[in-house]
Amino acid sequence: MTPQDLSQGNLVDNVAFLRREIDRRMRYVIGCEPGRATLNDWRLALAFSLRDRIVDSWLASRRRVREEGLKRVYYLSMEFLIGRLISDAITNLGLEEASRQALASFGQDYDAVVAEEPDAALGNGGLGRLAACFLESMASIGLPAMGYGVRYDHGLFRQSFHDGWQVESPEDWLKRRNPWEFERPEDNQVIGFGGEMREDASGRAVWTPGETVMAAAYDTPIVGWKARWTDTLRLWAAKPTRIFDLERFNRGDFLGAAEQASLAQTLSRVLYPDDTTEHGRELRLKQEYFFTAASVRDILARFRDEHGDDLRKLPQKVAIQLNDTHPTIAAPELVRILVDENGFEVDEAIETARGVLNYTNHTLLPEALERWSTSLMWRVLPRHMRLIERIDDWHIRQNRARGVERPPSTWLIDHGETRMGNLAFVMANKVNGVSALHTDLMKKTVFHDFHVMHPDRIVNQTNGVTPRRWLTACNPPLRNLLLETIGDGWTEDLGKLEDLEPHLKDSAFLEKFAAAKRENKVRLSNWLKIRTGVEADPDALFDVQIKRIHEYKRQHLNLLEAIAHWNAIRREPDRDWIPRVRIFGGKAAPGYALAKQIIKLINDVAKVINADPLMRGRLVIAYPENYNVSAAEVIIPAADLSEQISTAGKEASGTGNMKFAMNGAPTIGTLDGANVEIRDLVGADDFFLFGLTAEEAVEERKRPDHAAAAISASPALQEAIEQIASGVFSPDDHHRFSAIAENLRRYDYFLVCSDFDDYAAAQRRVDEAYRKPLEWARMAATNTARVGWFSSDRTIRSYAREVWTADTAF
Ligand SMILES: *Cc1c(COP(=O)(O)O)cnc(C)c1O
Repeated sequence: MTPQDLSQGNLVDNVAFLRREIDRRMRYVIGCEPGRATLNDWRLALAFSLRDRIVDSWLASRRRVREEGLKRVYYLSMEFLIGRLISDAITNLGLEEASRQALASFGQDYDAVVAEEPDAALGNGGLGRLAACFLESMASIGLPAMGYGVRYDHGLFRQSFHDGWQVESPEDWLKRRNPWEFERPEDNQVIGFGGEMREDASGRAVWTPGETVMAAAYDTPIVGWKARWTDTLRLWAAKPTRIFDLERFNRGDFLGAAEQASLAQTLSRVLYPDDTTEHGRELRLKQEYFFTAASVRDILARFRDEHGDDLRKLPQKVAIQLNDTHPTIAAPELVRILVDENGFEVDEAIETARGVLNYTNHTLLPEALERWSTSLMWRVLPRHMRLIERIDDWHIRQNRARGVERPPSTWLIDHGETRMGNLAFVMANKVNGVSALHTDLMKKTVFHDFHVMHPDRIVNQTNGVTPRRWLTACNPPLRNLLLETIGDGWTEDLGKLEDLEPHLKDSAFLEKFAAAKRENKVRLSNWLKIRTGVEADPDALFDVQIKRIHEYKRQHLNLLEAIAHWNAIRREPDRDWIPRVRIFGGKAAPGYALAKQIIKLINDVAKVINADPLMRGRLVIAYPENYNVSAAEVIIPAADLSEQISTAGKEASGTGNMKFAMNGAPTIGTLDGANVEIRDLVGADDFFLFGLTAEEAVEERKRPDHAAAAISASPALQEAIEQIASGVFSPDDHHRFSAIAENLRRYDYFLVCSDFDDYAAAQRRVDEAYRKPLEWARMAATNTARVGWFSSDRTIRSYAREVWTADTAF
């Protein structure tokens, strides 16, 4: 079986078809002669050609849902970290080889053309990437669904390093045209803010907003596997409701005339960095309301169109998922429309809304759950604030009727703030965590009191990732080996990777597995050379930590161990060290000073270690700039070791951990998030476990001297911290890293010091295992064989059954 067998039609026909289509698009859509086209023109012509095939599937899917009156699922998310859509399209249409040959016939290199598409980086990290994987899975399993988000002009910033420091610049993904989207002006919505609200005795109100903005709809088709089904991502862009004030313009007040325009455009201009600090709060609240309100109205309009005016039937045909608290304002918005515009009683409206809304929690830190000051809420969303009071009142009455007095932790309004996590909990039919451990901790900590009141509401839905992007498309050598060994059933039923089990004892198979890995390592090595100048020997152990830079993810634990490793090699350079390439990738939130210091520290340590002649062939550090989805697609298939080393209890799930395991990289990790489930499935022998458990971490923090005790018990750690503190890596500024060193010595909330020795010991076990290539290949292949459960197809089927009660179309 070859990859070409995955596509519909035969290769020769597909090449001829694409060649003709690309030529036509180049002339009649781009307006350019093939002989004069730029690389960007070629990627646009290819994208437009693929898009036509997707549109046929899209229209057919929409017709099916309408004709059969199927229930629809709506996924509301502030973030969609999509990456390149062209790769999804090519993979799911089965047109990779055909595209390659069609472009070659024009003298164009396929990889260069595809790489020309900018990443759609409309998200910060895992939460946004999860939303993107979910959409692809919904389409692949045929679930009638729609994603709703914001069409940010500029997604996540572009990261570069200047003298080792992170510098941010705007990413301009729309500048050279976005071929995937369709404007839908007929579905635009007017969204109001502020103004006046008057309520009558029955609770109905007239709200007259003080300012209005247009939410303009842009649709992107999301094609599923083999194009059997296509769903939609609808993104809202903010536009002025009036282009400009002609009267002011005519009076000569040109800037004033455009005032409203600039106000509106700031709403969808940038993605907020994932920053728990309190800047620009009002704009963020407006962004949240803007896209949520537009989505809710759109959902109701579609319901009316398909099922008529009886909104009591909403829960039968509509399920809405709130990805984190960001779209929680959907709850009072829906209640508002039912009461003020459709004559519902308030209680009845609340119960109807509760029938459609569900909420996914992504964090256990109570301080990370959104809160809005009630004064801000009264100013920006007066009608919604009033309805939140009514919902609070309803919740009190509900509980009183059952003889329960609400503990303060469950109040919706407290100390002059509205607590969005609590509002989401009260208004949701189901509330879910994203891994078994996280859901368990939710029940015991943040939502403990709620869980006692509503024991059936919290459910677990362990995250997953789409195997089409994170295996089929990004890892051709492994994909081809799998096709040759077990056929192609795994692409849509990843559990079938289990069929590899008998081959795990076959050394011929294991050698091929290792050869596929090596091919990916050669590709990454070339990529790193171009991006960083670092020489990475493909026979070295590739040790990878790529994710947002955060203290809880503990890049500094990895780095301290790298320093200790360097010290050990320098003491005994002639021992037979296992050569290692330690690869880092990740951005820090612009306002997160300590994370930015960690970036500088990684770069400074890399400079010293990479320049040390004793390290040649033994240890090297590579930190390419601007980690994003496309970088992950090159790095993950080439990893030998997956670093998942967060402080236990802090990583809700992680999805990076799943991508690595799927691509045959064993994990070194703590019992945190989905690591727990990965280890259960893969087996304890093929997982490098270290560190305190979540419960032990809580106890450890109660010991006032935990950091000092750990440091004095570990000479290697003591030496590494001393080197950081004394300027060994910053000879130009000896005190540059004293804040990091002080933080570790005195406070160390994230327990880097307490876990250090156990982590270092696990790293030595990794070295010993890597000495036996066949044994290592068996461990790597075992990871691939046993993690099929982490397909987001499984996650979505589970949500459909347990949360949405929605059926797939096939
Ligand atoms: C998967 C992914 C993440 C999430 O990684 P974690 O290790 O789970 O934090 C973040 N960013 C990108 C680009 C990803 O692809």
